[in-house]
Amino acid sequence: MIVLGIESTAHTASVGIVEESSTILGLASDMYRPPSGGIHPREAANHHVDVLPRLVEEALREASLTASDLGAVSFAQGPGLGPCLRAGATVARMLALTWDRPLVPVNHCVAHVEIARVLSHLDDPMLLYASGGNTQVVAHFSGRYRVLGETLDIGIGNFLDKLWIALGGTFPGGPALEAAALRGSELLALPYTVHGMDVAFSGLLTAALAMAARGADRDDLAYSVETTAYAMLTEITERALAHRKMKDVVLGGGVACNERLRGMVRAMAEARGGTSFAPPKRLCVDNGAMIAWTGLLGLQSGGSVPVERTQVEPRQRTDLVTVPWR
Ligand code: AMP
Ligand code: MG
Repeated sequence: MIVLGIESTAHTASVGIVEESSTILGLASDMYRPPSGGIHPREAANHHVDVLPRLVEEALREASLTASDLGAVSFAQGPGLGPCLRAGATVARMLALTWDRPLVPVNHCVAHVEIARVLSHLDDPMLLYASGGNTQVVAHFSGRYRVLGETLDIGIGNFLDKLWIALGGTFPGGPALEAAALRGSELLALPYTVHGMDVAFSGLLTAALAMAARGADRDDLAYSVETTAYAMLTEITERALAHRKMKDVVLGGGVACNERLRGMVRAMAEARGGTSFAPPKRLCVDNGAMIAWTGLLGLQSGGSVPVERTQVEPRQRTDLVTVPWR
């Protein structure tokens, strides 16, 4: 069985092709970069409509396959930006109808867990999902992926992007902030906002902007923001591990590309006798391969649906979807 998956929940349009052994046969991605400021959903959706046909061709070419080799088409049903989700879902429906293949909707957050799980060979890890719009600690129990902790306001990546753009940089801010943080050395005191299993970033953003306005060194500020925000994420992940009596962690989401975050989570997991795993960067960020792989798992447990039942669900929660393959 070979499945083609389409990702379009936010700024990245991506098409992945995966086979049953989990080998990624093809992956083509194209990220919408706004000329200034943050993402405008409608403009990102227009971008996805423009690039998706080419990405389908590129992924098929890389895989040396044609449509007749594919067993199904899957797509990210939610959560995400409505216009962006609809762009991907429309292309997926069109391909499934044209090629006469089953259509499998996939939850985007579950797809981050499943790609990390299969690549790590860890059977039952905790997921720290740190992306632009989402920040969640997720574990599987009682038949579903459950959110144990999450951001109470904005996603960690949106926080980093907003801060970097306010400091005069461009989107995406995370990688540039990481480079600046490597040059910083002084740890400035910033709000550390952990509420039980949850975190919040708006106080940290306000305080960092106020410090910047008072002339704080940008590199020190980047270093301090990373230290504070990633310590918050590491703390709630550790608390979730302790509660669930689990040891291992996988990372997902664009912010999981960050070496500092990877290192802090690894140190925490190893201190508890466990291990941590972060997928290669192109599979940490939003990508079609994770949608294809999770679509394949869904299909194998009877998860294809008729076109009439493929509406997108911008607010679809991780713990609302069933995972019959576990
Ligand atoms: P995603 O929403 O999962 O596609 O991830 C996009 C987010 O990841 C954006 O907010 C980026 O700024 C952030 N990001 C990407 N690379 C890094 C990095 N090396 N360090 C921190 N954040 C990053
Ligand atoms: Mg994501």
